[in-house]
Amino acid sequence: MLRKILIANRGEIAVRIIRACAEMGIRSVAIYSEADRFALHVKKADESYCIGSEPLAGYLNVYGLVNLAATTGCDAIHPGYGFLSENAQFARACKERGIVFIGPEADVIHRMGDKTEARKAMIAAGIPVTPGTESNLESVEEALGVAEKIGYPVMLKATSGGGGRGIRRCESADELQRNYQRVISEATKAFGSADVFLEKCIINPRHIEVQILADHHGNTIHLFERDCSIQRRNQKLIEIAPSPQLGEAQRQYLGGLAVLAAKAVGYTNAGTVEFLLGENDRFYFMEMNTRVQVEHTITETITGVDIIEEQIRVAANLPLRFKQEEIGRRGYAIQFRINAEDPQNSFLPSFGKISRYYAPGGPGVRTDTAIYTGYDIPPFYDSMVAKVIVSAQTWGDVIKRGERALRDMGLFGIKTTIPYYLEILGHPEFCSGTFNTGFVEKYPELINYSNKPRPEVLASVIAAAIAAHTGL
Ligand code: ADP
Ligand code: ADP
Ligand code: MG
Repeated sequence: MLRKILIANRGEIAVRIIRACAEMGIRSVAIYSEADRFALHVKKADESYCIGSEPLAGYLNVYGLVNLAATTGCDAIHPGYGFLSENAQFARACKERGIVFIGPEADVIHRMGDKTEARKAMIAAGIPVTPGTESNLESVEEALGVAEKIGYPVMLKATSGGGGRGIRRCESADELQRNYQRVISEATKAFGSADVFLEKCIINPRHIEVQILADHHGNTIHLFERDCSIQRRNQKLIEIAPSPQLGEAQRQYLGGLAVLAAKAVGYTNAGTVEFLLGENDRFYFMEMNTRVQVEHTITETITGVDIIEEQIRVAANLPLRFKQEEIGRRGYAIQFRINAEDPQNSFLPSFGKISRYYAPGGPGVRTDTAIYTGYDIPPFYDSMVAKVIVSAQTWGDVIKRGERALRDMGLFGIKTTIPYYLEILGHPEFCSGTFNTGFVEKYPELINYSNKPRPEVLASVIAAAIAAHTGL
């Protein structure tokens, strides 16, 4: 077993990994920038090292981090998500230095991190993919030609994209022409690659993804699916496991498809195969994330499998402890990404000091976060400040539990997406369990929640008015 792990990340995911290490008797090493001096992961780890005054550079310094792991006596690095987690060079540098990279092999990361290469590999394996280009686009003329063939609307996508960025929907040749250069420069800036490709736009799709675990002994299993259709600008806001939109036969079929996809590329460790489900009830492979995902929590909740622990065990060359038929599931789980953003002001980031915080609790509630009362959220990083995960036996009950937990949570001093999520939870379409990735755009009125007083507020206003009128 591994003895000491360097966590090449920050925030809630660093804390999550430190917790797994603590339970497994593994020493944890945290890293932090100057801006993160007061961050929780720094206090929670067994050892912590400052990696410089730049807010981002240290977390992205491939050789600096591998060196630090070696000199502090670590035998492995966990990359978390974001930062270097899908960087093949990082995985390779670890291996060359004799440090275990907790993730798949470098060449698998490289292949699946390139969306065009991943599509090719899936086509070869017989997995249905979204119709689109076979390789990256050479010119805007080629893009126009392909779009004409597959039909508008089309999605123009950055080959190395992630986090919902570098994607544009184009309704017409005009729009494609206008967006072509824009996506290229966006991709160059954000991902260091100018490669782009085209896909047919699936109309009113649901985003359904499958959690995979694979060891170095030839075992590959899935832990069922997650429904991440509640998104804004291609970024996930609320995730659900299992999907309330799948029947049992579809669920079994999709799980099998994801295992086939993982096996086809020699996948090891934890990963996620993302699909779109069209109105025609067909699944289309979209991409594979070769790392732990933000929403792994809801899969842990319904299956009881600790995904971070399994990642560490697999990296230590141990076989998976479960066979496919031993993976059960129980009820429903929902994760809310609590972002420090103001939903009523175009989701503008709202950083600053947290004047008061208390976590929601009670049955079926889990909170993964790195905030605390008095913590000053630095403006350099992701706006997600907490994840609230709720679970219950039925879809109806998990919605009620979600409402209760979000109202239970106290988070003051910054604006958050909590009030918006309460509106979504109260919406009949969400409650019916049939929604697609267009939900947020379809109901802009949910964002104007303050103009629509809650019943109890309304009741107290009316009571006050009556009291004033009658002179009581
Ligand atoms: P998930 O796939 O786990 O749901 P997200 O897409 O929300 O995760 O991304 C999680 C974090 O990782 C975000 O901070 C996002 O910006 C970052 N990220 C994801 N993919 C990339 C990428 N290709 N390049 C840079 N950052 C990325
Ligand atoms: P990222 O790497 O940023 O996660 P993805 O390729 O996974 O990018 O796409 C992110 C989201 O964009 C999807 O969840 C979906 O909502 C939307 N999307 C991507 N491709 C398509 C498509 N071909 N048709 C419709 N929606 C799409
Ligand atoms: Mg994705």
